[in-house]
Amino acid sequence: MALDITAARGAMTGARYIESLRDGREVWMDGKRIDDVPSHPAFSGMVNELARIYDLQHSSEFQDTMTFVSPESGNRCSMSWLIPRSADDLKKKRRNSEVWTSQSWGQLGRAPDVLAPYIISLYRSRGKLSSVKHPQCDFGENVGNYHRYCMENDLFLTHALGDPQVDRSEQPQNEQRARREEDLALHVVEETSEGIIITGGKQLATAAPISNETYVSLSATFTQRSDPKFVLAFSIPTNSSGMKILCREPVSIWNGSYGHPLGVSYDEQDCMLFFENVLVPWDRVFMLYDSEPLRRDFAAGINFTEWGNLCRIHERMKVMTTVATMIAESIGVLDYREVSAKIGEMVMYTEIWLHAMDGVEHGAHMEDSGVMALGSMTGMNIYFTQISARMVQILREVAGSGLIMQPSENDLASPELRPYLDRYLRGKGVDAEYKSRLYRLAHDLAVSSSGMRQEVYEYWHGGDPNRNRINLLRGFNQDATRSRIEDLISRPLPHG
Ligand SMILES: Cc1cc2nc3c(=O)[nH]c(=O)nc-3n(C[C@H](O)[C@H](O)[C@H](O)COP(=O)(O)OP(=O)(O)OC[C@H]3O[C@@H](n4cnc5c(N)ncnc54)[C@H](O)[C@@H]3O)c2cc1C
Repeated sequence: MALDITAARGAMTGARYIESLRDGREVWMDGKRIDDVPSHPAFSGMVNELARIYDLQHSSEFQDTMTFVSPESGNRCSMSWLIPRSADDLKKKRRNSEVWTSQSWGQLGRAPDVLAPYIISLYRSRGKLSSVKHPQCDFGENVGNYHRYCMENDLFLTHALGDPQVDRSEQPQNEQRARREEDLALHVVEETSEGIIITGGKQLATAAPISNETYVSLSATFTQRSDPKFVLAFSIPTNSSGMKILCREPVSIWNGSYGHPLGVSYDEQDCMLFFENVLVPWDRVFMLYDSEPLRRDFAAGINFTEWGNLCRIHERMKVMTTVATMIAESIGVLDYREVSAKIGEMVMYTEIWLHAMDGVEHGAHMEDSGVMALGSMTGMNIYFTQISARMVQILREVAGSGLIMQPSENDLASPELRPYLDRYLRGKGVDAEYKSRLYRLAHDLAVSSSGMRQEVYEYWHGGDPNRNRINLLRGFNQDATRSRIEDLISRPLPHG
């Protein structure tokens, strides 16, 4: 049977996850192919951290929050994969995402609970996907089977939507561009009885080397293509033959025992994907040659789906605000008007985000697909691209030069240096050890290569913010206000 689940074991364990990455995948970093992903220093911190959180799914403390029993198999499955059928299901999914995001300090933009909703979103659209006919398969049915397969095996997905950033001088729907990009953008080379053969590149896919499956589709921009061979969505195992993963320079390699707590444990990696005549079996194809179903869903704001990202952003805001407060306390500046007003600004953003999340929950509704969906969240991702940078800036302004000048753990351990550190690098009522570790956490949020990568991520991860703002304007219904304004200006003022 397609995507068989008879051997599936439900919610992932840490050990099973680590083992699943030893499957011959082709991962490249700094000119070398990586033999063993889980033990490589660029990945081990992240992999072990995910393994730790996967194990929480089986702990007495979190099992009921993070898992549910599959009616079909009896397996305990991850709540990330639950298809919500009621408002209560949505609340359960929110609590699950709160666990994932608080455990990872709001640093994981592409955690398992963020990626599963991409497939749940497709599941919601399966009727529309089925309306595009192909003799080899039913796309909507494929999505249903694939969701079940991922849920029963608790698979961790990466996703890749954009074209390589080679030449953006023409719009994706332009015929001429399509011709010129034939060798660059991912496209169908041929159909066989087994599936489609694809070639091309994707920029980019976060968490690709540490994922089980690679979900490939098109962003709102790239669904507009004119040449059908570039229109495709599918998911394949990350070790598929012919697929190369190229990693960026890691931000996780640090030998100290303290110092970069976020970079070391939460470097998700960001990668280019190169596909060379890769076979995608028919039961893994979700869209082909016609993007109309996805285009309609993008117009309805589908691309910022579910709780994972909203909860993560809230956690990140709370962490940045509290770190800023602790830093200000540690050097005795919290009570200065300007400093507390700036941190108050961070609180304001954090509170507004929570109110917006509650509003999204309040707007939950049952869809024709039988899936309970969260209310509208248009605008939230764009709002965060703006205020994330502002919050990082405030943290820098509050922390001063200590953000850069802190002793290392080896400095602290040196008997010769330590008296100087205790005297000149202590804080107000806190010793040099506490202060330097706290400051280096702030450094990881606002200065280090890990912090900077995260900031770039926050800006781009929802797609081009300018394109999103334009789409927001285009979809914003102004009719009622417009007609009132037209009425107002159509006649003399009553008391003129
Ligand atoms: C850290 C990080 C992680 C990411 N993770 C993922 C992931 O896991 N999966 C995934 O699919 N994607 C991921 N992305 C990609 C992200 O979705 C893209 O960065 C985003 O969609 C913008 O595309 P681009 O980077 O190709 O920029 P470009 O589209 O090349 O934009 C560059 C500049 O050109 C302008 N521009 C481009 N085209 C036009 C146009 N037609 N008209 C006017 N101006 C234009 C843009 O506004 C921008 O100023 C990630 C990005 C980052 C930075």
